[in-house]
Amino acid sequence: MAIIIVPSAVLDPSSRLHAGWGVLVDRNRIVATGPLDALTIPPAARRIELRGMTLLPGLIDLHSHLLLHPYDRRSWNDQVLVDHEALRVARATVAAAATLHAGFTTLRDLGTEGAGTADVGIKIAIEQGIIPGPRLAVSTRAIVAHGTYGPRGFAPNVAVPQGAQETSGSDIVAVVREQIALGADWIKVYADYGWGRGSQPRPTFTIEELALAVGTAHDGGCLVAAHASTIQGMRRAAGAGVDTIEHGNTGTRAIFDLLAERGIAFCPTLAASEAIARYRGWNGVAPEPPSLVAKRASFQAARDANVTIANGSDAGVFSHGENVRELELLVAYGMTPLEAIRAATTIAAQTLRDEAIGAIRPGALADLVAVSGDPAADISALRDVTFVMKGGTIHRHDAAR
Ligand SMILES: [Zn+2]
Repeated sequence: MAIIIVPSAVLDPSSRLHAGWGVLVDRNRIVATGPLDALTIPPAARRIELRGMTLLPGLIDLHSHLLLHPYDRRSWNDQVLVDHEALRVARATVAAAATLHAGFTTLRDLGTEGAGTADVGIKIAIEQGIIPGPRLAVSTRAIVAHGTYGPRGFAPNVAVPQGAQETSGSDIVAVVREQIALGADWIKVYADYGWGRGSQPRPTFTIEELALAVGTAHDGGCLVAAHASTIQGMRRAAGAGVDTIEHGNTGTRAIFDLLAERGIAFCPTLAASEAIARYRGWNGVAPEPPSLVAKRASFQAARDANVTIANGSDAGVFSHGENVRELELLVAYGMTPLEAIRAATTIAAQTLRDEAIGAIRPGALADLVAVSGDPAADISALRDVTFVMKGGTIHRHDAAR
């Protein structure tokens, strides 16, 4: 049955706010949008009035970890080494629901951090309607170079399970193929991490190893996200042909120029940097610690270089369902609200190479969110979600206030 949604305004991220528009949905797709009196509405269509609300495409977060619980409530080590996988999956189902109800209808989930391929199972459970959650692109285990990840610091005779899949040399090809066979949509590699003398952030895989991973992933129709916070790690990842770079904490204008030239999208994960600064004692009011000062500088360098900046928060480090924090920070760091909304809709969809989402236009999947107020004027309006539809199914519809 068709549904006609009548908000106060439709926010099309590629253009602007349209007052008096409606959106006609049939089954899982948008079939028409435009001024209400210009739409041909089937007489039997169900009418949903969203007075005072702005309707926009379902939001997309390109960097989450549904299987991670916020570090201020459970340490990463305890999650990887102590918690039952079933416990972690149970938490993840709650996280998925909270994320969807917050208006995020698509996630790219970048690694289970010790929970194997549980993300694939969660994705299937959502697709089958067993649990509510966003549509997922999953990556199973992140891929790390031997001896560079964690947990670490145990006696040499104790075999400690790692929060990611270790490999080295040409074996990385087998690892990528195995992950694709197990259901990975994206491959996540760590191009750098704190390791070696003094555990300083430094490159891990060689460019040759990274290039083998990228070539194999692309052969399998999968894209590659690289964790990289150092200039060297970013340069190797870019040189190897990855599709997105995550974090970029100390990126410079020169390295972002390289990303722009190669068409590599950048997910800044500002919200994770902020959360970690708070966990280390910053109260949010005192002058920002050096990590955040550097983060602002790298973000500005990325803006100056005109890199494609896509919304990716690293939710899991902080609470699931608080994903909108990244958009607020994108604005606090210099984007306009409309730019931030594009980063979480059109730009994110392009980064996923998914033309069916991120837009309100005929033929697109009916992933729609309504908020009170105008998020193009005040980004925090996105916190006031009253309606969520995913693929034509209504997952949230608060009573009129
Ligand atoms: Zn992450």
